[in-house]
Amino acid sequence: MEELGAHASMNGEIIKIEDAKIHVLTPAAKYASAVFEGLRGYWNPEQEKLFLFRLNDHIRRMFDGMKILRFETDATPQQIHDWTIDLMRANNHRETIHFRIFAFIDGFGMQGSCGPVSYCITSTVAPRKAAFVDGIRLGVSSWLRISDTVMPPRVKCVANYHNGRLAILQAEAEGFDYPLFLTAHGKVSETAGSCLFLVKNSRVITPDLGSDILESITRDTAIRIARDEMGVDVEERPVDRSEIYLADEAFITGSHQEIRPVISLDGIKIGSGKRGPFVEEIQNRYIDLVEGRTESPDGWCLPV
Ligand code: PMP
Repeated sequence: MEELGAHASMNGEIIKIEDAKIHVLTPAAKYASAVFEGLRGYWNPEQEKLFLFRLNDHIRRMFDGMKILRFETDATPQQIHDWTIDLMRANNHRETIHFRIFAFIDGFGMQGSCGPVSYCITSTVAPRKAAFVDGIRLGVSSWLRISDTVMPPRVKCVANYHNGRLAILQAEAEGFDYPLFLTAHGKVSETAGSCLFLVKNSRVITPDLGSDILESITRDTAIRIARDEMGVDVEERPVDRSEIYLADEAFITGSHQEIRPVISLDGIKIGSGKRGPFVEEIQNRYIDLVEGRTESPDGWCLPV
């Protein structure tokens, strides 16, 4: 297991990580009545600062999730922001980390309970993996992506992750690194924890927000880098599975996985079957942005 930060924040109180516990009878444990965010803090050794990437956008998405799930809370986005900063100071990481903000129904209520809502924030050291360069092999899952008529894929409800878990286990059993979901309409959706892009004839294509995907913050960042910095056309539209086999390059995006090349789908090589030049360039630009080396829109890189 990767190294955990020594402390957690429980409803704003800094406690030891060993004490960050919930009761077995909480609706969070019984019914997965919880939403969460996962994001990174990037250690910048030159500036000796940890940059939290798009914290406010993650907190906004968590509040969107709580609204759809009808959580009743008095906490404000500013409070969650402040508690996060307090935890970062307490844990004093000097390495790149991944951290989770978890909002859950506490107490002893039943399936329909809307409160009380508790918040727990934790952090883990999270070095970049070899797959950043080597890429990943995807396999289309026979499990379909949940649709908005079933559960809201656009937000990070914990229960949504059973869909991804089933697909991950299937992909591993079939010898792939990670699954790719199709929607109930047979169009490409996303993976179990990241969004998909393909590059074809110098254009970038990605499933639109109606393709039952999470409203991914890294997807949005990648679109802005491609469009505004690289001057490339980005199409957000329904995508066919066979378009991916014929793509020049493909990549996935997610806060934890960052940007990773996809080198094959269902055992069929994509392009050269190796990381391509577009993916390498957008990765480099992404890393410079998140590590605080290039200018970013206001509030995207929050130094602690
Ligand atoms: N899709 C799913 C299902 C996810 O869980 C995630 C985040 N892990 C993503 C996409 C990527 O979202 P983000 O860029 O906001 O991390």
